[in-house]
Amino acid sequence: MWVIQAKGLKAFYILHILGHTKIVKAVNEVDLEVLENEIYGIAGESGCGKSTLLKALLGVTIAPLRLISGQVLYRKDGEELDVYALKPEELRKLRWTFIAYVPQGSMSVLNPVRRLSRTLEDFLASHEGLKGRRQLMARAKDYFHELGLPPKILKAYPHQLSGGMRQRVTIALATLLAPKILIADEPTTALDVVVQRGVLQMLTDIHRKLANTLVLVTHDMGVHANVSRRLGIMYAGKLVEEGEVSELFTAPLHPYTRFLIKSLPKLGDKGSREGVPGMPPSLSELPSGCAFHPRCPLALPICREKEPLLSKEKPGHRVRCWLYLREGP
Ligand code: SF4
Repeated sequence: MWVIQAKGLKAFYILHILGHTKIVKAVNEVDLEVLENEIYGIAGESGCGKSTLLKALLGVTIAPLRLISGQVLYRKDGEELDVYALKPEELRKLRWTFIAYVPQGSMSVLNPVRRLSRTLEDFLASHEGLKGRRQLMARAKDYFHELGLPPKILKAYPHQLSGGMRQRVTIALATLLAPKILIADEPTTALDVVVQRGVLQMLTDIHRKLANTLVLVTHDMGVHANVSRRLGIMYAGKLVEEGEVSELFTAPLHPYTRFLIKSLPKLGDKGSREGVPGMPPSLSELPSGCAFHPRCPLALPICREKEPLLSKEKPGHRVRCWLYLREGP
């Protein structure tokens, strides 16, 4: 059963520069369902709209980002909530208790001039009120301990911690109130491989402990291969392929997905890896037809003219490519 559903979601950046209006189509007609208790991965190169999609799923469309059309629904206690129809106060109440977010860059989350204990107190006071604050702090300390975070770090300022430790603290804060959905945006970027492994282990341990849903955004296909259960591949603001990770990695359909998988290093393979040819398009000047056609070695004449729809190739496996459309060229 789904817990997040996006229908025809369009969220664009509308920029006014020197008297000109520029429209950046970061999320363009995205339809997806994230299921209860799964790890849903979102992959794609930098600048394909992954982080903006997360913002749109969270209902955080702050100018210049604007919701153009479509809907985001959450299923909470059997009830469907239309995120963009909720009042700001109703949305605020859902944050951290129902849906939580680990943004990119832990330094931007933690207040650099406050010790972590004060940040934790502020967080608890704003979300749970001041009543029972001492018990809440004790609960928070127990939770940190359970996650293997030493109690002494609460006395530290963010800059005194390593990048990996700061990221772990950010994840601990985001999951303190046991959210049903956790959305993590590039949680392992800029960390070395050993620290990355620890952060991913922490995320999956929390996912198991809370039996919740994890939406994991990363451009690192190796992380998805090890952690995600289903995967959505984004290109130029659109979902171009979606399926079970096991199937996507063994039988990818979209030429772009095939390149992403081929670029992964393999054990014992000393040859050079092949990356995706060319450069991603600007989201404000998208090519006609299939946005991947200037980079696609399999492009057909129709690919330059008409955009393919996202079709269901097999149960649970969708792809946006003319090569698989029955009514195609
Ligand atoms: Fe390549 Fe055409 Fe498929 Fe786009 S629709 S990925 S250009 S074959």
